[in-house]
Amino acid sequence: MFITRDGTPWEPAYLTAIDGNKCIGCGRCYKVCARDVMHLMGVDEDDELVACAADEDDDDEEFVRKVMVLHQAGNCIGCGACARVCPKGCQTHVGAAVLAAA
Ligand code: SF4
Ligand code: SF4
Repeated sequence: MFITRDGTPWEPAYLTAIDGNKCIGCGRCYKVCARDVMHLMGVDEDDELVACAADEDDDDEEFVRKVMVLHQAGNCIGCGACARVCPKGCQTHVGAAVLAAA
């Protein structure tokens, strides 16, 4: 279905979900993704998502923790870089062939 430049078979695995209960908001996946697929958000005391800057460590923020969420899932090229750096295993990736058959 897909091949690398040298002709080796390769199947993209697209990021389809992030488990917000496992994610620690470390930002590693965000830093390695070149496709603007994810977005770092804050979670407030009511468990609601609130805006937060990805590169700030302020102590006066209005959230109790950070979490990564899907932002533009359709931009994903399925490179798998985010899966390799995630320390919590909270991402779900689905192979292109599986998605095409769905
Ligand atoms: S698989 Fe690649 S393109 Fe898709 S979200 Fe992860 S790092 Fe970004
Ligand atoms: S690398 Fe994993 S734990 Fe860290 S922000 Fe991304 S999804 Fe969350």
